[in-house]
Amino acid sequence: MTLKRSIVLLLLCLVSIHNVLAVEVTALPTELAVPGGIAIVPTNTMASRAHYNNDTVLLAEYEGEQYAIVGIPLSASIGEHAVTLQTSDGQEFTKHFQVTDKEYVEQRLTITNTRQVNPNNDDMVRINRESAQMREAFSSWDESLQPVFQMRPPVDGIRSSSFGLRRFFNDQPRAPHSGMDIAADEGTPIFAPAPGVIRATGNYFFNGNTIILDHGHGLITLYCHMNTIDVEPGMRVEAGEQIGKVGQTGRVTGPHLHWSVNLNNVRVDPALFLVE
Ligand SMILES: [Zn+2]
Repeated sequence: MTLKRSIVLLLLCLVSIHNVLAVEVTALPTELAVPGGIAIVPTNTMASRAHYNNDTVLLAEYEGEQYAIVGIPLSASIGEHAVTLQTSDGQEFTKHFQVTDKEYVEQRLTITNTRQVNPNNDDMVRINRESAQMREAFSSWDESLQPVFQMRPPVDGIRSSSFGLRRFFNDQPRAPHSGMDIAADEGTPIFAPAPGVIRATGNYFFNGNTIILDHGHGLITLYCHMNTIDVEPGMRVEAGEQIGKVGQTGRVTGPHLHWSVNLNNVRVDPALFLVE
Protein backbone atom coordinates (compact mmCIF):
# COMPACT_ATOMS: atom_id res chain seq x y z
CA MET A 1 0.00 0.00 0.00
CA THR A 2 1.39 3.42 -0.95
CA LEU A 3 1.85 6.14 1.67
CA LYS A 4 -0.69 8.34 -0.13
CA ARG A 5 -3.28 5.54 -0.04
CA SER A 6 -2.58 4.93 3.67
CA ILE A 7 -3.13 8.61 4.45
CA VAL A 8 -6.41 8.64 2.52
CA LEU A 9 -7.60 5.54 4.43
CA LEU A 10 -6.57 7.06 7.76
CA LEU A 11 -8.48 10.27 6.96
CA LEU A 12 -11.55 8.24 5.96
CA CYS A 13 -11.37 6.39 9.31
CA LEU A 14 -11.12 9.64 11.26
CA VAL A 15 -14.06 11.13 9.38
CA SER A 16 -16.25 8.11 10.09
CA ILE A 17 -15.32 7.99 13.78
CA HIS A 18 -16.27 11.64 14.28
CA ASN A 19 -19.46 11.41 12.29
CA VAL A 20 -22.43 11.52 14.69
CA LEU A 21 -24.97 9.23 13.12
CA ALA A 22 -28.13 10.41 14.86
CA VAL A 23 -30.88 11.62 12.53
CA GLU A 24 -33.22 14.42 13.47
CA VAL A 25 -36.83 13.28 13.52
CA THR A 26 -40.12 15.11 14.08
CA ALA A 27 -41.88 12.12 15.68
CA LEU A 28 -40.98 8.87 17.40
CA PRO A 29 -42.72 5.50 17.02
CA THR A 30 -44.97 4.28 19.84
CA GLU A 31 -42.89 2.76 22.62
CA LEU A 32 -43.83 -0.75 23.77
CA ALA A 33 -40.90 -2.58 25.36
CA VAL A 34 -42.16 -6.16 24.88
CA PRO A 35 -40.95 -8.98 22.62
CA GLY A 36 -41.75 -7.73 19.09
CA GLY A 37 -41.96 -4.13 20.31
CA ILE A 38 -39.73 -1.06 20.53
CA ALA A 39 -37.71 0.44 23.40
CA ILE A 40 -36.98 4.17 23.19
CA VAL A 41 -33.85 4.62 25.30
CA PRO A 42 -32.56 8.15 26.12
CA THR A 43 -28.80 8.15 25.59
CA ASN A 44 -28.25 11.23 27.84
CA THR A 45 -25.32 12.08 25.56
CA MET A 46 -24.54 12.45 21.88
CA ALA A 47 -23.58 8.92 20.94
CA SER A 48 -22.20 8.28 17.47
CA ARG A 49 -23.00 4.55 17.41
CA ALA A 50 -25.34 2.21 19.24
CA HIS A 51 -25.55 -1.59 19.23
CA TYR A 52 -28.03 -4.17 20.49
CA ASN A 53 -27.32 -7.91 20.07
CA ASN A 54 -24.42 -6.96 17.75
CA ASP A 55 -26.67 -5.08 15.33
CA THR A 56 -26.36 -1.32 14.76
CA VAL A 57 -29.27 0.57 16.34
CA LEU A 58 -30.97 3.69 15.01
CA LEU A 59 -30.04 6.86 16.91
CA ALA A 60 -32.62 9.64 16.65
CA GLU A 61 -32.52 13.24 17.79
CA TYR A 62 -35.95 14.33 18.89
CA GLU A 63 -36.69 17.74 20.47
CA GLY A 64 -33.03 18.25 21.33
CA GLU A 65 -32.55 14.84 23.00
CA GLN A 66 -30.95 11.73 21.59
CA TYR A 67 -32.64 8.32 21.77
CA ALA A 68 -31.69 4.80 20.72
CA ILE A 69 -34.75 3.33 18.93
CA VAL A 70 -34.35 -0.38 19.65
CA GLY A 71 -36.31 -3.13 17.89
CA ILE A 72 -36.87 -6.05 20.31
CA PRO A 73 -37.12 -9.52 18.74
CA LEU A 74 -40.18 -11.72 19.32
CA SER A 75 -37.76 -14.25 20.81
CA ALA A 76 -36.43 -11.78 23.44
CA SER A 77 -36.36 -12.85 27.07
CA ILE A 78 -38.31 -10.94 29.71
CA GLY A 79 -36.14 -8.73 31.95
CA GLU A 80 -33.17 -6.43 31.60
CA HIS A 81 -31.62 -5.77 28.20
CA ALA A 82 -28.74 -3.50 27.25
CA VAL A 83 -27.86 -1.17 24.41
CA THR A 84 -24.18 -0.26 23.98
CA LEU A 85 -23.32 3.32 23.06
CA GLN A 86 -20.12 4.75 21.62
CA THR A 87 -19.27 8.43 21.63
CA SER A 88 -17.17 10.10 18.94
CA ASP A 89 -14.20 10.38 21.36
CA GLY A 90 -14.12 6.61 21.72
CA GLN A 91 -15.91 6.18 25.07
CA GLU A 92 -18.25 3.26 25.41
CA PHE A 93 -21.09 2.84 27.87
CA THR A 94 -24.22 0.78 28.37
CA LYS A 95 -27.85 1.75 28.85
CA HIS A 96 -30.29 -0.76 30.28
CA PHE A 97 -33.98 -1.15 29.59
CA GLN A 98 -36.65 -3.58 30.76
CA VAL A 99 -38.56 -5.89 28.45
CA THR A 100 -41.96 -6.86 29.86
CA ASP A 101 -44.15 -9.80 28.88
CA LYS A 102 -46.76 -9.87 26.16
CA GLU A 103 -48.99 -12.85 25.44
CA TYR A 104 -49.38 -13.63 21.77
CA VAL A 105 -52.23 -15.99 20.96
CA GLU A 106 -52.15 -19.07 18.75
CA GLN A 107 -53.36 -19.12 15.19
CA ARG A 108 -54.08 -22.33 13.27
CA LEU A 109 -54.24 -22.18 9.49
CA THR A 110 -55.00 -24.83 6.90
CA ILE A 111 -52.90 -24.66 3.74
CA THR A 112 -54.19 -26.86 0.88
CA ASN A 113 -50.88 -26.73 -1.02
CA THR A 114 -48.99 -29.06 1.35
CA ARG A 115 -45.64 -28.28 -0.34
CA GLN A 116 -45.94 -24.80 1.21
CA VAL A 117 -45.99 -26.47 4.63
CA ASN A 118 -43.53 -29.30 3.96
CA PRO A 119 -41.37 -28.13 1.04
CA ASN A 120 -39.43 -30.72 -0.98
CA ASN A 121 -35.64 -30.68 -1.46
CA ASP A 122 -35.74 -28.46 -4.57
CA ASP A 123 -38.04 -26.06 -2.75
CA MET A 124 -35.60 -25.95 0.18
CA VAL A 125 -32.73 -24.92 -2.13
CA ARG A 126 -34.89 -22.07 -3.42
CA ILE A 127 -36.12 -21.13 0.08
CA ASN A 128 -32.55 -20.97 1.46
CA ARG A 129 -31.39 -18.83 -1.46
CA GLU A 130 -34.33 -16.47 -1.03
CA SER A 131 -33.96 -16.14 2.73
CA ALA A 132 -30.29 -15.20 2.23
CA GLN A 133 -31.39 -12.46 -0.21
CA MET A 134 -33.99 -11.17 2.24
CA ARG A 135 -31.56 -11.33 5.19
CA GLU A 136 -29.11 -9.22 3.21
CA ALA A 137 -31.78 -6.63 2.34
CA PHE A 138 -32.96 -6.49 5.97
CA SER A 139 -29.42 -5.84 7.22
CA SER A 140 -29.01 -2.82 4.92
CA TRP A 141 -27.81 0.34 6.67
CA ASP A 142 -28.24 3.44 4.51
CA GLU A 143 -27.26 6.71 6.19
CA SER A 144 -28.17 8.84 3.18
CA LEU A 145 -31.89 8.29 3.88
CA GLN A 146 -33.96 10.11 6.51
CA PRO A 147 -36.19 7.62 8.36
CA VAL A 148 -39.77 8.63 9.13
CA PHE A 149 -41.51 6.93 12.07
CA GLN A 150 -45.07 7.99 11.40
CA MET A 151 -46.65 5.95 8.65
CA ARG A 152 -50.04 5.75 6.96
CA PRO A 153 -51.34 2.21 6.41
CA PRO A 154 -49.90 1.01 3.08
CA VAL A 155 -53.25 -0.34 1.91
CA ASP A 156 -56.90 0.44 2.53
CA GLY A 157 -58.26 -2.77 4.04
CA ILE A 158 -59.13 -4.76 7.15
CA ARG A 159 -56.22 -4.69 9.59
CA SER A 160 -55.99 -7.53 12.02
CA SER A 161 -53.80 -7.57 15.13
CA SER A 162 -51.99 -10.50 13.58
CA PHE A 163 -48.40 -9.57 14.50
CA GLY A 164 -46.70 -12.09 16.79
CA LEU A 165 -49.32 -14.84 16.48
CA ARG A 166 -47.87 -18.25 17.33
CA ARG A 167 -48.58 -20.03 14.10
CA PHE A 168 -49.51 -23.58 13.22
CA PHE A 169 -49.86 -24.57 9.57
CA ASN A 170 -51.86 -27.81 9.16
CA ASP A 171 -51.25 -28.38 12.92
CA GLN A 172 -47.46 -28.04 12.57
CA PRO A 173 -45.75 -25.28 14.61
CA ARG A 174 -43.91 -22.66 12.53
CA ALA A 175 -42.17 -19.31 13.19
CA PRO A 176 -44.39 -16.64 14.80
CA HIS A 177 -46.09 -14.20 12.45
CA SER A 178 -43.62 -11.36 11.90
CA GLY A 179 -45.90 -8.82 10.25
CA MET A 180 -49.38 -7.34 10.01
CA ASP A 181 -51.89 -8.81 7.56
CA ILE A 182 -54.22 -6.34 5.87
CA ALA A 183 -57.06 -8.03 3.98
CA ALA A 184 -58.16 -6.33 0.77
CA ASP A 185 -59.48 -7.33 -2.65
CA GLU A 186 -57.00 -8.48 -5.25
CA GLY A 187 -55.79 -5.43 -7.21
CA THR A 188 -56.20 -2.90 -4.37
CA PRO A 189 -53.32 -0.40 -4.66
CA ILE A 190 -50.47 -0.52 -2.12
CA PHE A 191 -48.74 2.77 -1.25
CA ALA A 192 -45.34 3.48 0.27
CA PRO A 193 -46.14 4.49 3.88
CA ALA A 194 -42.94 6.56 4.12
CA PRO A 195 -40.20 7.71 1.72
CA GLY A 196 -37.31 5.39 0.88
CA VAL A 197 -35.42 3.40 -1.73
CA ILE A 198 -36.54 0.02 -3.14
CA ARG A 199 -33.84 -2.34 -1.83
CA ALA A 200 -35.10 -5.61 -3.39
CA THR A 201 -38.01 -7.13 -5.29
CA GLY A 202 -38.68 -10.76 -6.13
CA ASN A 203 -41.04 -13.69 -6.36
CA TYR A 204 -40.39 -15.78 -3.27
CA PHE A 205 -41.59 -19.26 -2.31
CA PHE A 206 -43.48 -18.27 0.87
CA ASN A 207 -43.80 -14.50 0.43
CA GLY A 208 -44.88 -14.46 -3.24
CA ASN A 209 -44.32 -11.16 -5.07
CA THR A 210 -42.33 -9.11 -2.61
CA ILE A 211 -40.86 -5.62 -2.15
CA ILE A 212 -38.29 -4.57 0.46
CA LEU A 213 -38.31 -0.79 1.00
CA ASP A 214 -35.38 0.85 2.80
CA HIS A 215 -36.19 4.02 4.81
CA GLY A 216 -32.64 4.45 6.15
CA HIS A 217 -30.70 3.70 9.34
CA GLY A 218 -32.04 0.14 9.57
CA LEU A 219 -35.74 1.05 9.25
CA ILE A 220 -36.91 -1.24 6.44
CA THR A 221 -40.41 -2.38 5.40
CA LEU A 222 -41.54 -5.55 3.60
CA TYR A 223 -44.58 -6.11 1.34
CA CYS A 224 -45.62 -9.67 0.41
CA HIS A 225 -48.14 -11.74 -1.59
CA MET A 226 -48.60 -8.93 -4.11
CA ASN A 227 -50.40 -9.34 -7.42
CA THR A 228 -48.14 -6.89 -9.24
CA ILE A 229 -44.94 -5.07 -8.31
CA ASP A 230 -44.90 -1.54 -9.73
CA VAL A 231 -41.30 -0.58 -8.77
CA GLU A 232 -37.73 -1.73 -9.37
CA PRO A 233 -34.72 -2.06 -7.10
CA GLY A 234 -32.87 1.25 -6.68
CA MET A 235 -35.98 3.39 -7.27
CA ARG A 236 -36.66 6.21 -4.82
CA VAL A 237 -40.29 6.45 -3.70
CA GLU A 238 -42.14 9.10 -1.75
CA ALA A 239 -44.80 8.50 0.92
CA GLY A 240 -48.12 7.81 -0.79
CA GLU A 241 -46.59 6.61 -4.07
CA GLN A 242 -48.09 3.38 -5.44
CA ILE A 243 -45.62 0.47 -5.28
CA GLY A 244 -47.87 -2.46 -6.22
CA LYS A 245 -51.23 -4.18 -5.87
CA VAL A 246 -52.71 -6.65 -3.38
CA GLY A 247 -52.62 -10.29 -4.49
CA GLN A 248 -52.48 -13.84 -3.19
CA THR A 249 -49.09 -15.08 -4.36
CA GLY A 250 -46.97 -17.37 -2.12
CA ARG A 251 -48.33 -19.09 1.02
CA VAL A 252 -51.74 -17.51 1.61
CA THR A 253 -55.32 -18.41 2.43
CA GLY A 254 -56.73 -15.41 0.53
CA PRO A 255 -55.82 -11.98 -0.91
CA HIS A 256 -54.07 -9.69 1.59
CA LEU A 257 -50.95 -7.62 2.15
CA HIS A 258 -48.41 -8.98 4.61
CA TRP A 259 -46.57 -5.91 5.90
CA SER A 260 -43.48 -6.11 8.11
CA VAL A 261 -41.40 -3.36 9.72
CA ASN A 262 -37.75 -4.02 10.49
CA LEU A 263 -35.57 -2.08 12.97
CA ASN A 264 -31.93 -3.09 13.70
CA ASN A 265 -32.57 -6.32 11.77
CA VAL A 266 -35.56 -7.24 13.96
CA ARG A 267 -39.19 -7.55 12.86
CA VAL A 268 -41.33 -5.35 15.13
CA ASP A 269 -45.06 -4.67 15.35
CA PRO A 270 -46.02 -2.38 12.42
CA ALA A 271 -48.92 -0.96 14.49
CA LEU A 272 -46.33 1.01 16.52
CA PHE A 273 -45.67 3.21 13.46
CA LEU A 274 -49.24 3.79 12.30
CA VAL A 275 -50.95 7.15 12.56
CA GLU A 276 -54.57 7.63 11.61
ZN1 LIG B 1 -48.79 -12.36 7.09
